[in-house]
Amino acid sequence: MTNEHCPGFESNKSLAEVKLKCPACGTEFGIFSDETEKTAKCPDCGVAVDPKTAKA
Ligand SMILES: [Zn+2]
Repeated sequence: MTNEHCPGFESNKSLAEVKLKCPACGTEFGIFSDETEKTAKCPDCGVAVDPKTAKA
């Protein structure tokens, strides 16, 4: 609690990474656990990926 120099960064520490697999091209990529409620976007082909159905 005493070594913080960047509160914004510290607040991200509790987030886990969720691995997704693009249903269109098969690329695996990660999103943060707080982003599973919204549609993700494949970094390779740009297709919309639903985190609920595309877990790797
Ligand atoms: Zn893709």
